[in-house]
This record gives sequence, structure tokens and C-alpha cells, in this order.
Amino acid sequence: MILFIRTLFVLAVLLVLGGSAAVFWHMENRLPPLSYNEFLTILEKDEVAEVRLQGGQISLKDTFGREFATYSPDVQALLPSLLEKGIPIYGRPDHSSSLLLLAELVVPVMLILLVWYSILRRQTAEESDADGKDGKGRFSPQQMRNPVTFRDVAGVPEAKEELLEVIDFLQRPKKYSRLGAVIPRGILFQGPPGTGKTLLARAIAGEAGVPFFSISGSDFVEMFVGVGASRVRELFKEAKKQTPCIVFIDEIDAVGGRRSAGNMAGGQDERGQTLNALLVEMDGFATDDTIIILAATNRPDILDPALLRPGRFDRQITILPPDIKGRLQILQVYATKLKLSDKIDLETVARNTPGFTGAELASLMNEAALIAGRTGDSAIRPEHVEAAKDRILMGVERKGLVISEKDRRTMAYHEAGHAILARSLPETDPIHKITIIPRGKALGHTQQLPLTDRHAYTREYLLSRIKILMGGRASEEICLNQQTTGAEDDFRQAVDLATKMVCQWGMTDNIGPMSYIRDDGDFLGEQLSRNAYSEETGQSIDREVKGLVESCYREAKEILTAEKDFLVYLADMLLVNETLDHEEMEIVYECTSKKRLESGAGNPSDDGTLCSVSSAV
Ligand code: ADP
Ligand code: ZN
Repeated sequence: MILFIRTLFVLAVLLVLGGSAAVFWHMENRLPPLSYNEFLTILEKDEVAEVRLQGGQISLKDTFGREFATYSPDVQALLPSLLEKGIPIYGRPDHSSSLLLLAELVVPVMLILLVWYSILRRQTAEESDADGKDGKGRFSPQQMRNPVTFRDVAGVPEAKEELLEVIDFLQRPKKYSRLGAVIPRGILFQGPPGTGKTLLARAIAGEAGVPFFSISGSDFVEMFVGVGASRVRELFKEAKKQTPCIVFIDEIDAVGGRRSAGNMAGGQDERGQTLNALLVEMDGFATDDTIIILAATNRPDILDPALLRPGRFDRQITILPPDIKGRLQILQVYATKLKLSDKIDLETVARNTPGFTGAELASLMNEAALIAGRTGDSAIRPEHVEAAKDRILMGVERKGLVISEKDRRTMAYHEAGHAILARSLPETDPIHKITIIPRGKALGHTQQLPLTDRHAYTREYLLSRIKILMGGRASEEICLNQQTTGAEDDFRQAVDLATKMVCQWGMTDNIGPMSYIRDDGDFLGEQLSRNAYSEETGQSIDREVKGLVESCYREAKEILTAEKDFLVYLADMLLVNETLDHEEMEIVYECTSKKRLESGAGNPSDDGTLCSVSSAV
């Protein structure tokens, strides 16, 4: 629709330009007038060279090359004498040029009016009832053929508990209004994407059996100022017709972002108007309007405080990625829908997927089903789930990528470096898998999986993490005496972590227990805490971060130098097998120790024999 209007608008502008050009052209061509008598005189003097006739109008060129125009009361009578003198005559159909001009101007003006009208129509929410083709308006509750219920949402027991009351209210509003109780109008779900906020909102509607209106915050923000506000009014008008009902606003931060003073860009203005309209609607509910507004955001920190005031979204429910029990429950929900082999132990899957959100678990199971389908299996087996997990965590395997032997070697040493540090440092997550099969952006991967979900990270853990990240480059330097670009992402993550340790988590002595939040992305033109510290502090932060990362790098290098034989061995094994899991890595370690014992402190790879792991895999 917008595109259509835009095209229309451009067309109109072009036509107006064309029209005016045509007018000017006509003016340019307007010849000096000549009286009919004068014309006859010139004709008699045989000074006419050429004549153009159009209607009663005569344009002529005389023998000196001058051009004139005149008007003849009776052209027919003139023709014989022109013919007699042998003057060339050019006739033109009698389009009155004024008519042409009129058309050229009227059409674009009408077009512009049309565009204007459609914009006006879009802006006036009152008129847009006729807009929807189904006669129901733009907003109609979503058809719930298979309503989602609480049974489909797993792993969020606290949220469900809180929402039971809301469902009861939607089903029996009288029970509460009789007592004079005011039920919260707005409930805000906050949490990372994919944790099931939308699903939960749907489930409430499904459980209560009420219509569900849904819109996303970004739908409100459009190119025309004022459209967002009218959409809000339109939405609530529809909703009020069908009470009791649920209105769900996804990504509310798109409209409800903090209205910052000062730098009000055009988009901000539109957002402000939309937000105001939303607030007005929320405040304007009659007590007997049984409408519950649910909203979801993953950026609660940037919401305008006006939204969170009592009577608006005064109830907030935080939904976090599920813990192992939650993951198991979610997996069980999907297990009923899929064909799993008996070998799959959902508890193992749950344990091996820390940090996965509901959406990621759903896509894990779906991906596994797809892989099983592709390989022609009749049920999903553990290896399908494992392959699906690799795909989700590390990206699609890049089978077509041709990697030179030299690059493979680099990757093998790089990953072996990460892995050995992960194995030998304190407070690290166990290695799950090392691979030099390129996936996604990376050429190799060392995957660690925590035994349990971690909620708070110790300084020790974070330091180990940075050292592990440094291990890739350190190993390349020790064994291959080279620096490659492969460490780019490792460094970025390490510096990120170190910066947070210094600025946010108060983990260094020189800066101390302070919080200096560095500019995180300048979201929505906010300038929250930039320059919240002096330049001097800034410099010592930089020094501290650098020192931290560098000391980690040094230590990583020391450890790897001490374990060089293990490193070389592990890299060799990786080159042969491409992927090693936890047990295989342990076997390599045992072999290294054995060789060490046998040959004193000698380097085991010197004798050229490889450990027996290669055949074991
Ligand atoms: P959000 O709105 O928080 O971004 P969604 O509700 O859109 O997340 O979740 C996307 C999909 O992930 C859902 O359709 C559902 O398939 C799955 N999902 C997410 N959380 C859960 C959960 N707790 N239980 C079951 N499925 C879930
Ligand atoms: Zn790396």
C-alpha cells in the first residue's frame, strides 16, 4: 500500500514537472502576432515561404526566415491563393493547444489530490474500518484453531503461577469487580529473545478462551508521522469491541524507548507520539473494559519510565533461559511431537545444552528431525541431535571450502592450544569437542560445556577463560612461529571480558570495586553513561585491560610451552581425525605421559610414531 502511494506520488510530481515544461515550451514557441491584413500584404508581395495551418491559426515563415502567427477568419477561402502561389502548406489536426495544456495540468493535480486523500484516510483511524477487505478492519483477533495452552509452554513455572490470576480475571471478571478490585491492566514480559514470551501470551489467551490481538512495536513505526498513533487507537478500538480480550505488543521497546531530551530525530518524534497514544489508551479504559495488555521486550532498561507507572505496565515478569530442569521439560514437550529413538536420553540432551532458550531447543529438535529425515532414518537418534547442536552452536559445516594443508595445520595447532589450556587451568568448563572442520565463520572450534548452569562467574573462571582464548595464538607462535588472523575473534572476546572485569565487575586492584559502564552501542541515540569517568580514569582503565590481557597471554604461553609435547601430539591427532571428543583428548594425554616416562623429557613426536588413538577413532 505504502509502495503504491509512493509510486503515485512520484508519478504526480513527474507529471507536474512535465506539464510545466510543456507550458514553457508553448510559450517559447509563441510566435510574434501578425494582423490578418499584414499577412495578406506579405502574401501578395510573394514573401511567404511556408505556411502551417492548425484550426484557424496560421503560422508562417517569410522569405527572410522570420516566423509569425496570425489567425484567419476563413482559412478555406485562403487555400486557393496559397496553392496557386505554390507555397508549401503543412496542416495539423485541430487540437486546441489550450485543451492539451489543461490536461497536462489537471491530471497531476488530481493525482496529488488522490495521494493526499489516501494519506488522510490512513491517518484517520475512524475511517479505516472500511479499509480491511474482510470488513473487520486492520486488526482482527488471530484465528485460534489450535489454541496454545499452558501445556505447550514448559520451564517457566513462576511466570505461569503469576498468570493464573490473570486468566481467572479474564474468565470471570465479575468475581473481581464485585469486590472493587482493580486487576492490573498491563503485564510486561522481559527476557532474552526466544524464551517464550510470545508463546506465553498466546497461551494465556488460549487458556482463557479470549480473542488475541497481536502487534509488534516495529509495526507502529512507519514512514508517515502520526500513523503509529492512529494505529494504536485503531487497535484498541477493535479490541474494545471484543472484550474480554488480550492485546499483545511485541518488541515494545521499539515505541516505548526512553524519550531522551535533546536529540529528537524525526523517528524519535514519531515514536513519542505513538507512545503517548498508547499511554492515553491505557489510562482511558473504563473499569469494566476487560482488556489485558501484555507486552514483551528484551531491553527493559531502555523503556520509558512512564510506561512502568502504576495503572500501566506495573507488573513485570522476567523470563530467563531455562535451567536444566526447564530444558528437560521443554524437550519433553517437543518429544511428544517428534519420533525419537529409545536411545535418546532427554536428560543428557538437557544437560548438554546449557544456555539454550526454548526457541533454540525447539530448533535443535527440529534440526535433528531434518537431519534424520535426510539420512533416511525412521527415528531421531542421538547422533542426529549432536549434529544439530553443532550446527546451531557453530554454524553449518562448510563442506565446499577447500583448505590448504598449511591452513589445516594452523587450525590444528590453534585449537589444540585452546583445548590444552581449557584442560589444565582451574575452574574451567570441561572440553566437549575439538574440531578443525570449518563451520560458519570459524575454521575450527573448541567447544566447552559446563557441567551445571553457571549463574555467577568467579574471577578465577574469567581469568581462565581469557587465557583459553589467548591459547590459540600462543600455540601458533610456539609451534609454528607465526601469527595469523585466526585469533581475531579470540582477542575480541578476551578484551571484552577483560574490560568488563575492570569496569563493571570491580575485579582489579587498581580500579577497585567501581562500575564505569563504557558506551554499549549507543542504542536509540541514548548517551547514558559515556564520559561518566574522567580522562585519567579512562587511561588507567585502558592500562588495566591491556595489562590483564597481556598477563593472561604470557601465562597461556608458559603453560603451552611446558606442555609442548602434548600440544604437538594433540594437533597431530586433530589433523588425522578432524574432530576429537573429551575421551579421545584424554587418551592423547595419557599417551603423551607414557611417552614422557619412556623417553625422559624427550619430545614424543620426534620418534615419528603416533599414539594409538588414531585407529581407535
Ligand atoms: P520470544 O517471544 O520470547 O522471543 P517466542 O515465544 O517467540 O519467544 O518463542 C519462539 C518459539 O520457541 C516458540 O514458538 C516455541 O516453539 C519455542 N519456545 C520458546 N520458549 C518455550 C517454552 N518455554 N516452552 C516451549 N516452547 C518454547
Ligand atoms: Zn581461537
